[in-house]
Amino acid sequence: MIYDVAIIGGGASGLMFASYLNKRKYKNACIIETNTKLAQKLKVSGGSKCNITNDKITSKNYLGDESLVSNLLKEYSNKDLLEFLNKNNVHPKLNPKIVKGTYFCNSSQDVIDMFSKLTSHIKKYLDTKVLDLEFKNDVYEIKTNKQKILAKKVVVSSGGLSYPALGASSVAYDIAKKFGHTIEKCEPALVGYTVQKDQFWFKKLAGVSLYANIFIDNRKFEGSLLFAHKGCSGPVVLTSSLFWQKGKIAVDFLPKENIDKLLVGNKNISTAIPLPKRFILEFLESLDIKDKPINKLTNEELQKIKTIKYYEFAPAGNFGYTKAEVTKGGINTNEINHSTFESNLQKNLYFIGECLDVTGQLGGFNFQIVFAQSYRCAINF
Ligand SMILES: Cc1cc2nc3c(=O)[nH]c(=O)nc-3n(C[C@H](O)[C@H](O)[C@H](O)COP(=O)(O)OP(=O)(O)OC[C@H]3O[C@@H](n4cnc5c(N)ncnc54)[C@H](O)[C@@H]3O)c2cc1C
Repeated sequence: MIYDVAIIGGGASGLMFASYLNKRKYKNACIIETNTKLAQKLKVSGGSKCNITNDKITSKNYLGDESLVSNLLKEYSNKDLLEFLNKNNVHPKLNPKIVKGTYFCNSSQDVIDMFSKLTSHIKKYLDTKVLDLEFKNDVYEIKTNKQKILAKKVVVSSGGLSYPALGASSVAYDIAKKFGHTIEKCEPALVGYTVQKDQFWFKKLAGVSLYANIFIDNRKFEGSLLFAHKGCSGPVVLTSSLFWQKGKIAVDFLPKENIDKLLVGNKNISTAIPLPKRFILEFLESLDIKDKPINKLTNEELQKIKTIKYYEFAPAGNFGYTKAEVTKGGINTNEINHSTFESNLQKNLYFIGECLDVTGQLGGFNFQIVFAQSYRCAINF
């Protein structure tokens, strides 16, 4: 049997594409998924409540081709996505507690159940890993760890390299390269930073969190910073990691306070500065300063403490693909038809989702753009 279309990857983009695919025109379609269940990354997303979109989305929230992104967001906006979900009995709610504008579902399983229902007519090959793709006599031959699957058209929606434990593989990039595509450098993103020796004091604070600002070049990020065994993490760190190349970043650990006003009087430093005492004590130790009354500090010590408002350091690296929420970089979008997502280099071969060189910030931006690509690809298919 030769399928009309084979979808490689039963995750967010593959399922959204399959949901919008014209049933009458494409009677024989299949989804090939390496896991025994569909959409395992979506399942764990947003702490199993799937942060599916954001109230305040613009192309500025993304790395990648700005005109492609803004065009996609115009065609399939957050409102369109919410309407689609509501129509299918999924009702995300605005919950901006951690990141501004975020919409969370009651449970991410609701989204998976919705997709399973919408794609129930499509054959699923689960527990089937795609290894290679060949094009012979106008037909694609998909090699898997189990059988060969034949299809006239192939949609590659197998995601990026993040979270291999949830099924991620390099197959989209391997296929793209095989058909002549350029892959923009892939790196883990939306991920915590590991630290160099001078910041090993971060590790002693594992579990402590505080509200901070992070500065990278001319960009400023706000949110919660969480100290971790390997360095630091939390929403503000994850979002900033999308823009970090190597080199220094700066943290304002006290964004809502004027430090000059706090550093007066005879209170001890740890009492005067409204931050967790554990943090202040480790911070002071890293500066070689004892906790003592503020009026006993030397000028030099005062200057050192003021770095709390702009603490510069160069992360050693990041926590890697095992912890990164997304992969930045990917298949160069100049080589993809922006109206259809068909490869410009190989007919009847399509790429959608995270495998493309478009990456969003933390806060529902990634599902939104991936769904917008899937929609455009499906309605023009
Ligand atoms: C822990 C975590 C939390 C996240 N939370 C959010 C969030 O709340 N909001 C948000 O917007 N984004 C979130 N993301 C990012 C979001 O999950 C991705 O951007 C999105 O899933 C990408 O969609 P995709 O279809 O391209 O890839 P995926 O959804 O990853 O789908 C790809 C599918 O292809 C399968 N596959 C891979 N290789 C093969 C192969 N060789 N053969 C067969 N199948 C294969 C995979 O198993 C997977 O099911 C999160 C990511 C992680 C890791």
